Amino acid sequence: MRNFVDLHTHSAASDGTLPPAEVVWLAERKRLAAVALTDHDTADGLAEAARAARPLAVRFIPGIEISAQFTGGALHLVGLGIDPADRGLRAVLGQLMAARRQRNPRMIEKLRRLGVDITMAEVRALAGGAVVGRLHMAQVLCRKGRARTVQEAFGRYLGCGAPAFVDKERLTPRQALEGIHAAGGLGVLAHPPQLNYGNLAQLERIVRSLVRHGLDGLEVYHPDHTPDQTRWYLDLARRLGLLVAGGSDFHGAGKPEVRLGRPKVPLAAVEQLLAKLGL
Ligand code: AMP
Ligand code: ZN
Ligand code: FE
Ligand code: FE
Repeated sequence: MRNFVDLHTHSAASDGTLPPAEVVWLAERKRLAAVALTDHDTADGLAEAARAARPLAVRFIPGIEISAQFTGGALHLVGLGIDPADRGLRAVLGQLMAARRQRNPRMIEKLRRLGVDITMAEVRALAGGAVVGRLHMAQVLCRKGRARTVQEAFGRYLGCGAPAFVDKERLTPRQALEGIHAAGGLGVLAHPPQLNYGNLAQLERIVRSLVRHGLDGLEVYHPDHTPDQTRWYLDLARRLGLLVAGGSDFHGAGKPEVRLGRPKVPLAAVEQLLAKLGL
């Protein structure tokens, strides 16, 4: 029996390091019941991953992760069960790609002003795919000895508020959720701690407002969550009638401490969500 799932992973199509098929193979090797590929701002890896999953026992869920406008923290929405061919979604993703093309060279320029010898071409080469982001810049900074770890690169240069940070144009949460819904998907609030909410009452207000904008579910399980947080989020999901989701936020070698399938997300906890997707 396969009893666990992973509904939040990244491949080399965005800022993970494994090709999409290899993410699926790894999920199969770990005997997961289901795996979702949720690359940032792109559906490019989904066809390859779906093809890889066809002969395997692991069920594949096509997904996406979109960062939306939010003050004071990071609001990421994971879309699960999306149709990668949907025209509305494709238009939205085109916008997000344009926002990255605006932002990336400006960050590189800031890094250069800080005395770092780095070019957009180097970062693009390391990224390999269409989505180029800060995790790729962090990896280049590590290679150049400007930081020992990705974490340090974010602290010193790339994180929100750090000297090379430039924000990118984002969708509102409502727009992101509309894009996900238009493509037949369900919208899940990813890793709530990254909202930097003050207390649970504030989190509840944020989540209730997202529900009014179409939120379907809450990422209850994530490696960054403490056992207390996991319990609170589970309780919040139950009280607000939200679907339960969860995953590892696997990025391959980009975040070597994160392992696919960890934390263990019980299939039983996400069964309602899978049922809604017809799985
Ligand atoms: P971007 O979408 O280009 O702004 O990059 C966001 C990605 O960078 C996130 O999905 C994470 O993978 C990574 N990231 C953001 N902040 C940090 C951090 N403090 N430490 C490590 N990785 C981070
Ligand atoms: Zn990422
Ligand atoms: Fe995220
Ligand atoms: Fe993620």
